[in-house]
Amino acid sequence: MSALHGARIHITGVVQGVGFRPFVYGLAKKLALTGWVRNTSAGVHIEVDGSEQAIARFVSALVEDAPPLARIDDIQVEACAPNAHSSFEIMASETIPEAYQPVSPDVSTCADCMREMRDASDRRYRYPFTNCTNCGPRFTIIEDIPYDRPNTTMAEFPMCAQCAEEYEDPLDRRFHAQPVACPQCGPQIWLEEGGRRVSEREEALQAVRSMLREGCIVAVKGLGGFHLACDATDAEAVVELRRRKLRVDKPFAVMMPDMNAVNAHCLMNEVERRLLESHERPIVILKRRAESNIVPEVAPGQDTLGVMLPYTPLHFLLLETETGYPNALVMTSGNLKEEPIATQNEEARENLNQLADAFLMHDRGIRTRCDDSVVCAIEDDLYPLRRSRGYAPFPVHLDWESPPMLAVGAELKNAFCLTQARYAFLSHHIGDMENYETLRSFEDGVAHYERLFRTKPEALAYDLHPDYLATRYALERSEHEGLPAVGVQHHHAHIAACMAEHGLDGDSPVIGVAFDGTGYGSDGAIWGGEFLLADYSSFERPFHLSYVSMPGGDAAVRQPWRLALAWLDRAGLAWAPDLPPVQAADSTALQTVRRMLSLGLNAPLTSSMGRLFDAVSALAGVRQTVNFEAQAAIEFEMLVDAEETGAYDFTFEEEEIDAAPLVEAVVEDLRSGTAVEKIAARFHNGVAAMVLKSCELIRERGGSRKVVLSGGVWQNQILLTRTLAQLRERDFEVYIHRQVPTNDGGIALGQAAVALQVLRER
Ligand code: ZN
Ligand code: ZN
Ligand code: FE
Repeated sequence: MSALHGARIHITGVVQGVGFRPFVYGLAKKLALTGWVRNTSAGVHIEVDGSEQAIARFVSALVEDAPPLARIDDIQVEACAPNAHSSFEIMASETIPEAYQPVSPDVSTCADCMREMRDASDRRYRYPFTNCTNCGPRFTIIEDIPYDRPNTTMAEFPMCAQCAEEYEDPLDRRFHAQPVACPQCGPQIWLEEGGRRVSEREEALQAVRSMLREGCIVAVKGLGGFHLACDATDAEAVVELRRRKLRVDKPFAVMMPDMNAVNAHCLMNEVERRLLESHERPIVILKRRAESNIVPEVAPGQDTLGVMLPYTPLHFLLLETETGYPNALVMTSGNLKEEPIATQNEEARENLNQLADAFLMHDRGIRTRCDDSVVCAIEDDLYPLRRSRGYAPFPVHLDWESPPMLAVGAELKNAFCLTQARYAFLSHHIGDMENYETLRSFEDGVAHYERLFRTKPEALAYDLHPDYLATRYALERSEHEGLPAVGVQHHHAHIAACMAEHGLDGDSPVIGVAFDGTGYGSDGAIWGGEFLLADYSSFERPFHLSYVSMPGGDAAVRQPWRLALAWLDRAGLAWAPDLPPVQAADSTALQTVRRMLSLGLNAPLTSSMGRLFDAVSALAGVRQTVNFEAQAAIEFEMLVDAEETGAYDFTFEEEEIDAAPLVEAVVEDLRSGTAVEKIAARFHNGVAAMVLKSCELIRERGGSRKVVLSGGVWQNQILLTRTLAQLRERDFEVYIHRQVPTNDGGIALGQAAVALQVLRER
């Protein structure tokens, strides 16, 4: 027998609540190693005795065969004298003050749990809270670390003898699965109508299913909050839901029971299939089939559907298909307009009373509100649009060490970012910070992250917009706590976010193409069509879209016809009565806009690409007023004639890129009866060509060949894929978002990266 060796191993990453210790235990037994494994609040600690060869095999298997949900960030192995252990054991967890580690996001129900739930002889048959070490709630139920049951909202459910046995058995799939539960000891569901509990358990489930079939709207408590559910094939129910929710035509997400159902309603490729089935279970944007019987009112005027698969046992039971019904449920956030989704039973009873006919409740508490995530597939990979349930609070890995800092994000689609060492903990989706409730949710979220990750920010980063609630929060906190605070220009932050997630070092500036709706510019104007030559600490602005007035300010965002008129004016064209935006306004409105433009009153200047999309969409007669952000641009994109290769021109004058010739060409095309599909194509092609030309000019002047695309406009898939193709053809190296959203939901990461570098150089 070879000589006995010893080793101490320390592992960090997501290694708790993911079945890591049982895996270590099994592996040690297999290799005949003795010693112990233990969770600490800094990671996992292992000590082993065995032959040199067995230890080496053990270490490589730890990394290579780790359980599916584990994410190893670092493994340190240190040789030591053997300790004469007689067996291999799992030791009690140890709390190390100040230590922290990543917390696992929530994980959709695994195949083993599904099997048990469908097995009539299993004690968890049809139990809506079945879970194990490989699946179930995590982030949404955690109050504090270490991740043990007393620190979760499961604390109030004492385990029955059988559950406790599974929990204690290292060889059981539920060994130390903190939310473990069964029908005897765990949470339960019930149905409430008119404030009364009318049925429970299986009976409640069947009642909800028949209510949905009859066209009712039911509030369903889920993992990260309440949904409002109704039959997606029932036009009356969907229209009624829109009426109650005060939501005119912003699309609803749909949950479908399985891939067969998704296939029947939507087209999808392999990447989209993989994203749908991934354990994060996001909403995936798919092209809908023309023959689908999902009513158009689910996503009015759109050729796509946001689709997700069930991700908790309760969802599976709600959508089971033995009866062929329901085939698709609208599952939209349980809130009124843009308020935060309800998470507490009492809150739901109060706020959703006018919205839901009944409530499917349960008694497992939700600690952290977490909306469904939204993604689409670009080329062969994920492109995040909203990063929340299933992804948060998983960190983005930084390529550098960062002190604890808090970046507060922007106003719309807010998410904040807390950095610590090499981790950037980008928060779940907080929402639009326009009301008190969302601000409260933001403050609670920040406090929760600081506690979970045992960190206190030493610096703050914020958007330059003085009226953003998040900006005010940062400035007040900076004053209160005497912390340095760094204001970061909005589009610089967009570009830096994309650089940071790709680990670009920023040693030499990249070409950043930041296209979005609104961002506060360094000159006080509203930017959004920006070419930046940027590193982390600073940027130049070699080109930008030329400024145009927004008559009425925010009113021009809601009424794109106003922007179309401003652009006609700028291009020196008359407001002729044959043009759609002129027809959209009555004579008083036209006079008002005329006055605003000539006097420059209530007509802030903007270089926004998002607003140019709005203006041209209105000019082409597609949409004159919008009910949600980017609606005019989305409908314009949908029309693009894929065969059309023509492109409208922009002119370059010094650092200004003028769209006046483009506006002129659109009017000419309209008057010659060109199909709107061709106009839409020529516009998209024109913008892509303009991006290429700008990047080439910057490169010729000694700029970079690295191009970074960020900002909300890059959610436009046609523009994105055409721009990517053109840039690559001319040998540019192009970076797009893969981990955080390209819209303002990803901006906090960039703020943190910029602020760190600025502070270093101060
Ligand atoms: Zn499971
Ligand atoms: Zn039990
Ligand atoms: Fe933005």
